[in-house]
Amino acid sequence: MSTITCPSATCEPGAYLLGTLGSDGRIKHLRTPLRVDADFVAKARANGEPESHMRFAAPCQEGKCSHWTGAACGLIDRVMAHLDALEADIRADSPPPCTIRGSCRWYRQSGVEACLSCDLVVRLPEATAAE
Ligand code: SF4
Repeated sequence: MSTITCPSATCEPGAYLLGTLGSDGRIKHLRTPLRVDADFVAKARANGEPESHMRFAAPCQEGKCSHWTGAACGLIDRVMAHLDALEADIRADSPPPCTIRGSCRWYRQSGVEACLSCDLVVRLPEATAAE
């Protein structure tokens, strides 16, 4: 398994809670990593899709993930291209504090530009995740 970290993983035991969705529609990154266990996952899923309002980090699955292009994560590339196409730049002014920057797949691919777009990403249910 990869030692590079996916910053948009599913809510599974052993994953780390990376941040939660704020009322402004942006992810608020935690300053301390929180590893989630089976009890957390069960309670979170009892209230719907936890990935719709929380972001989780876990080892990058590379070829086992639908976002893998064969050499990189296609999700952050699509997010950044989408933001490039918007007339209003809604990226963050500065990179957020982040507990996984040293191993983050998106940061390794795109550097600080990924971080400036990161708080706008919320993982949707599988049916729409690849949109
Ligand atoms: S893109 Fe940047 S802010 Fe987002 S998880 Fe990776 S290192 Fe952290």
